[in-house]
Amino acid sequence: MDQTAKIYVAGHRGLVGSALVRALQAKGFGNLLLRTSRELDLTRQSAVEHFFRAERPDYVFLAAARVGGIWANSTQPAEFIYQNLMIEANIIQAAKETGVRKLLFLGSSCIYPKLAPQPLKEEYLLTGPLEPTNQAYALAKIAGIELCRSYNLQYGTDFISVMPTNLYGINDNFDLESSHVLPALIRKFHEAKISGKKQVVVWGTGQPVREFLHVDDLAAACLFLMENYSGSDIVNIGCGAGLTIRALAELVKEIVGFAGEIVFDTGKPDGTPVKLLDISRLTGMGWKPRISLRDGITATYHWWAKG
Ligand code: GDP
Repeated sequence: MDQTAKIYVAGHRGLVGSALVRALQAKGFGNLLLRTSRELDLTRQSAVEHFFRAERPDYVFLAAARVGGIWANSTQPAEFIYQNLMIEANIIQAAKETGVRKLLFLGSSCIYPKLAPQPLKEEYLLTGPLEPTNQAYALAKIAGIELCRSYNLQYGTDFISVMPTNLYGINDNFDLESSHVLPALIRKFHEAKISGKKQVVVWGTGQPVREFLHVDDLAAACLFLMENYSGSDIVNIGCGAGLTIRALAELVKEIVGFAGEIVFDTGKPDGTPVKLLDISRLTGMGWKPRISLRDGITATYHWWAKG
């Protein structure tokens, strides 16, 4: 990508999109094309077509999506599948029609079968049933991967798909009903500390294993792949190490400085038992993450706590 290339970051106000904007700006890319969802409703095909015809971006980072944690996914599956299918289909088709040079589509590690061997290799895609709590979202993301692959095959486009692990960082969603686990824990422990509560409730058994990647590492990996990788094979982006939700809760408790106890609400779902990505494809290309979980959580906590 040359520095004057017109780069559209779809979803630039979200966790991932805003990190991509910071990373692109830090590398001197000055011609960024950004639209809020109010300015451009990506679920509307005619609006997306009009935007691409008028603006003709050279590169697209497709980071716009309806996302949420285990509770939002399992209670609003229709919104998750519908909105994600529409956003992907509209952008990918418009990108093909207007000759976008390269597009990067962001998937998710939940596309892999619930009981696939761990760590998850890219070739495990479509080898078994999905985790029910986020099946609707996962199927929309699998459709996005297949859109990129099919357009490359039939139209000769250069559309790549990357699968990030669980992400966290600046501009994450801290709403307790719809967030992912890490921002929820930061908020719960902080509020309990401030109000002098004795206990913090953590959902599920505490036994599921997840890995967490700071979104600035994810953005760096996306830029790296945009510049160094082409092909229809998906690429995992993770940190290569996981921990239990119990261990994560202990770590957040310590960073926040909460003195009370942790209790588990087993009435809430655990979701998939283990979700760890094999990142050897990515590390084999020469990229590795830099931000440790402790440093990343500490920075995110301080950013959020200062409001
Ligand atoms: P998942 O990776 O798709 O399952 O998404 P989440 O980040 O929402 O949840 C990860 C795990 O953390 C699940 O086992 C949840 O039950 C557990 N968890 C524990 N406490 C919380 C919480 O307060 N919010 C959320 N979203 N998950 C929690």
